[in-house]
Amino acid sequence: MKIFNSLTRQKQDLVTHDEGLVRMYSCGPTVYSYPHIGNMRAYLFMDALRRTLKYNGYKIDGVMNITDVGHMTSDEDEGEDKMLVASKREHKSPWEVAKYYTDIFISETKRLNIDMPEHICPATSVMPEIIVFVKKLIENGNAYETSKGIYFDIATFAGYGKLGGVGLENKLAGARIDIDKEKRHPADFALWIKAPKQHIMQWDSPWGKGYPGWHIECSTIGIKYLGEYIDIHTGGVEHRPVHHENEIAQDDAYAGHQVVSNWMHLEHLLVDGGKMSKSLGNVYKLDDLVAKGFSPEDYRYFFFTTHYAKQQNFTWEGLESAKNALKSMKNILKEHKESTDNTKVKIDKAEKDFLEAINDDLNLPKALGIVWTLLKMPRDRKIYDAIIKFNQIFGFDFEGDIIPTEVQELAKQRWQAKQNRDFATADELRNKISQLGFSVKDTKDGYEIVKN
Ligand code: AMP
Ligand code: ZN
Repeated sequence: MKIFNSLTRQKQDLVTHDEGLVRMYSCGPTVYSYPHIGNMRAYLFMDALRRTLKYNGYKIDGVMNITDVGHMTSDEDEGEDKMLVASKREHKSPWEVAKYYTDIFISETKRLNIDMPEHICPATSVMPEIIVFVKKLIENGNAYETSKGIYFDIATFAGYGKLGGVGLENKLAGARIDIDKEKRHPADFALWIKAPKQHIMQWDSPWGKGYPGWHIECSTIGIKYLGEYIDIHTGGVEHRPVHHENEIAQDDAYAGHQVVSNWMHLEHLLVDGGKMSKSLGNVYKLDDLVAKGFSPEDYRYFFFTTHYAKQQNFTWEGLESAKNALKSMKNILKEHKESTDNTKVKIDKAEKDFLEAINDDLNLPKALGIVWTLLKMPRDRKIYDAIIKFNQIFGFDFEGDIIPTEVQELAKQRWQAKQNRDFATADELRNKISQLGFSVKDTKDGYEIVKN
């Protein structure tokens, strides 16, 4: 299996530290607002990678962080903690904000049938481990204390800049004029921040009350769950020059050797050829797609039409084509299912081509094309069987038998509302269920959920 490694800038064979096992870290969300469809592209990519690894027989030990403290409004330690911004905006505690958006994030991944990592870890749950990590970096001479916090001294790490390819000179040139005079280098970054009183989230540490920097959370969680040899680390492309560069410095300085061997970066989703932005009103969520009659699965299909390392342009027309393609795919597949074996049809080559495509740095648009070539052939049960096998990668609901957890949950709430004779709520929940493409039917001893 070949993957493009952003560190070596080469497509190379995947070689894992332990044969047959992939230890994989995926940068997770900062839980301060609704995830948009661009964010979800990052996790669809992770899902596709996990499915491809499994298709190749690998076992996976995967972890994803949930950032619930310490991610500032700028990735370079500037500005305010995003959790506090949300806490003020929503008049809730940062913990309430974190719980609210973590739940939404998990439910969005379910709606998209995303194969999630084995471990999901909120940063606030590993405070003792983060403190031990920072202590070791100080002991090793890689970090120092200022009046504001503990900083990583990038001059002590020879490889700094190798991932982002930005170079230290450019980092310097790009640094702000009002640099913190106590820092040894403008690009030194915070491991631990001494908390001002207004920072609600703070923990005791050897350096007084404070909270961790965002980058140290990922390094700590990665090493805690996966150890000091991590095979693949995924994340959005914007994390390459700062967040991931800093993770490498922390990891390798801590372990005394290279920790992550392969970095894989996802290119962004654009909308109508440009950036998604609040001012343009085009920061779409899954619910916005559903409100226009699309299903989360249509967006899933849409994802497969562009390679992960290329920017993908979202348009409503593009989503409409994805929806139509998925619909006819399901219809034609049914015809193959209902036919008998046509001995003339050979699928060995298609199987080989399919494996080659997914193993060529996840060429899923090509893999999807192979499915279509098969679909267009004379109807044959063998084709149905092959496509069901290929569907381990795509995760489409061909049989119509996957009832998303979210729908099950809403149906349960509707049942309870009915029991309480709260018919207004029950009707509202029925509408929500119907927007998700399902209906509930009352039966003698309960209810039944069916797909529309
Ligand atoms: P955040 O919650 O802001 O830290 O972002 C979560 C993930 O979404 C990160 O891995 C980002 O790289 C990714 N992301 C943010 N915007 C986009 C976008 N427009 N397209 C694809 N991925 C994105
Ligand atoms: Zn991260």
